Order: sequence, then C-alpha cells, then structure tokens
Amino acid sequence: MKLVFPATPVPHGVTQADWLNWTWQLRHSLRTREDFAKVLDLTADEEEGFHGGGELFQIRSTPYYAALAGGPHDPIRKILMPSARELFTGAQQMLDPLGEKKNNPAPRIIHRYPDRLLFLVTDTCSVYCRYCTRKHFTGGDQAFVRSSEYDQALSYIKSRQGLREVILSGGDPLTLSDSILERVLSDLRSIDHVEIIRIGTRMPVVCPMRVTDQLVQMIRRYHPVYLMTHFNHPRELTGEAADAVTRLVDHGIPVFNQLVLLNGVNNHPAVIQALSRRLLYLRAKPYYMFQCDPSEGTDHLRTSIDDSIEIQRELWGRLSGLAMPNLSVDIPDGGGKAGLVPDFLVSHEGRRRVFEGWDGVRAEYIDPAPETIVKPIDAELYLAEWDALKGARSR
Ligand SMILES: *Cc1c(COP(=O)(O)O)cnc(C)c1O
Ligand code: SF4
Repeated sequence: MKLVFPATPVPHGVTQADWLNWTWQLRHSLRTREDFAKVLDLTADEEEGFHGGGELFQIRSTPYYAALAGGPHDPIRKILMPSARELFTGAQQMLDPLGEKKNNPAPRIIHRYPDRLLFLVTDTCSVYCRYCTRKHFTGGDQAFVRSSEYDQALSYIKSRQGLREVILSGGDPLTLSDSILERVLSDLRSIDHVEIIRIGTRMPVVCPMRVTDQLVQMIRRYHPVYLMTHFNHPRELTGEAADAVTRLVDHGIPVFNQLVLLNGVNNHPAVIQALSRRLLYLRAKPYYMFQCDPSEGTDHLRTSIDDSIEIQRELWGRLSGLAMPNLSVDIPDGGGKAGLVPDFLVSHEGRRRVFEGWDGVRAEYIDPAPETIVKPIDAELYLAEWDALKGARSR
C-alpha cells in the first residue's frame, strides 16, 4: 500500500512563505482562549479548561499544530486543548512523577542512569502537551538556561568521566536558535568522554518547518547526534512532518520516536501500527511506547497498563520488528524505566520452559547443561570500559 503524507492547507490570509517559516509559527503562537476560539469552536469543557487548566500548566500551540485538530473528540485536539478534567483529583497525581528532583545533582541536570543524563537546556515548548510529565519545570518561560547554571551543568558533565551520552531535553531544545544550539553542541563535543549526543524534541511534530537545511547541516558537524522525536498519532505525519524527518535522516541524523499511550488518542493497536509503519517508511525507528505518567491533571488522558500490554500483544508478530516500539512504564518517584512485554511463558521447570508464541504455537525450550557454559576468553579486554560505567552517577 502506498503511504501518503498529505500537505497541510495554508489558512486564508497567511502566505505560504510565512506559514513555512518556523519563527513566524512561534511568533504567532496561540495562547489565550480568544486565540484558539478563532480557529476552533470551543467546547464547554475546553472553555472551562482555559480557566483552570491554564493555571496548572501553560497553554500554547503553533498555528500549524492547531490546524491539525479536528472536531470535539479529535485525538490531536485532546493533546493540545485544556480540559476541565485537568482540575479533577485523579487516582494518582504527582507534580514530579519521575522524582526528577531527587536525581538533580547540578542545575538542569537529571542523572538517573550511570552512562547517560538529561540536560534541560530550555523550559520552553512551542506546544504544551496536556499530559506533560515535566509540568514542575516546563512552561516557566525562561527560554535558554541562565549562563551561571549553564556553566555549572557543563562542569558537572565534564567531571563525570563515566558518562557516555548527553540527552538535550527541556522543554524543547529546538525552540532555541541555531546559534545557541550550536554553542551547546560544540561545548559538549569538546568533552572527550561524551560519545553520543541526543536531542529530544517535539518540533518535527508540532513545528516541522523548524527542521531547515541550515539546522541539519549545523547538527551534522557534531556527529554522532541522534534525534528523539514524539509522534503520537498517524495524522501528525503530514507532508511537512515527513519532509522534516527525511531531511534529518538524509543528513545522517538517525530519528527515533517515543510515543505516549493516551486515552482516546492512540490506545488501539490499529492506530499504533499505522503510526509505526509510516514512521518506519520514513526511516524513523519506533523506539518507546510509554505508559502515560501520573502527572497532575492527566487522569483523563491515562490508560491502564493491562490495555497497554494487550496492544503490545496484538502487534507482536503482526508488525515488523523494525516498526515495533518497546512498551515501558516509568516507575514513579525516580525508579527508572521498566520494560513491559507480553508473557509468552506457559510453564517453567528447571532447564525446561514451555512457550506459546504470538499465533498459538506451543513448544519447549531446554537450556544446555550448566557445566558446558563458559565465559568468552576475551571478556577481560572490555572490563575496564564496563567498570567505568558503574560509579559514574552521583547521588
Ligand atoms: C529515559 C531516560 C533516559 C534515557 O533512557 P534510554 O532507555 O537510554 O532511552 C535517561 N535519563 C533519564 C532520567 C530518563 O528518564
Ligand atoms: S513537548 Fe515534551 S516537554 Fe514539551 S509539553 Fe510536550 S511532553 Fe512536555
């Protein structure tokens, strides 16, 4: 089947050149009830959401992303429009569900795993997703990190010899200008032990015009750089978004996608397969499928873990392994990620295990005798590298 990525119509009264200019999109952000009422017929629930939801968490969208929203129950609309239900007390609501404040050894640094950390270079996004897990930080409108904090964060990264990877996050790092971003990338590249740089950004989804030729040509000078993006729904893959992803991978920047399972948005295997296949076709690897975090005001957007595992089970075997995202839940309170996989094990006794595969084939796997198992003789060669990863994280 031919996969199509339809271009988004340019609204009346806007020139094509403006519409495709990312700074125009940011300058014309929709923020108030009145801004949104010009492009969408607000529901009573949204009207109420503008009163309460906005206080809990900023409201903002690019004109481009708001143009993707359809009628009242539209999936994309649920991601960007506030709801009165944000004010309901949920089953679990945490301002900092990931316990990030516990793993915050320097300003703007979240260091949870030994070899990699997050560097929150800005607190600003061009669209505030209503389910955001980092509401305690995002939307403060501080834009780029203050210079004293930047220096402290950078010295922390320099001082941690076991660190291998820095993940630029926020907020959305691609809301920064090319020149600020280049300064960050070049500062990180000057640190010997930083092997991999990741940029976590939702701009290819909410403002794909940000991904200019100039940007990708700048980024490629600091390779290896990976880009982690965040498409949740196949309709977000417009012609503009497809162009952005293509431009990135054409410049050797691998693109990975992290989606969040959301109630009434994408909690159906047909939707996930459609999104994943389109991403794969564009050479973007579906990477994570996250359980929604119990961030404040998100209960109406969360789904159950049982449903998530069921979606994963339905996709298993039917969808190319390349297109398969890993289902994962972030353990609240800074517990880190926990992978969730459908259970194919039927019984287990000593060295014998019986499995039932995705389409019902049952068979046994028997381990070899334990006394035949040896370590590779050259494992020692890699032990120093391995040990360096441990102890890289400070508490
Ligand atoms: C998710 C996460 C990472 C990256 O994890 P990967 O599994 O390598 O993608 C790193 N640090 C923190 C704090 C995270 O939450
Ligand atoms: S792009 Fe990420 S950080 Fe920004 S509002 Fe959405 S989920 Fe939160």
